[in-house]
Amino acid sequence: MVIKKCLYCGKEFEAVRSSAKYDSDTCRVKYNNFANMLRGKRYAALSAIRDLSNILRKYPEFVVEMDSILQDIKNEAHRVQMTIDPHKLIEAQNLQDDKN
Ligand SMILES: [Zn+2]
Repeated sequence: MVIKKCLYCGKEFEAVRSSAKYDSDTCRVKYNNFANMLRGKRYAALSAIRDLSNILRKYPEFVVEMDSILQDIKNEAHRVQMTIDPHKLIEAQNLQDDKN
């Protein structure tokens, strides 16, 4: 028996197997849904970058403006990344539950 930290909720639990990552099936499913959602977002972002890249090849005079747009996307991605950290989501959920 070894004490591990759940990858999704961050709670400590006694793992029967050393390869255990989650304290429950609920956390395993939630983490996988979260990871799949992120993969989908990444795919959409890569697709948007390809579109912007194609536009730049056609209209290189927009390179400065495009650079500014990419910086905005980077800043927003960082902001969103901070927002959707699973441990922060759990904390936010717990705070919400305490209010109700
Ligand atoms: Zn958990």
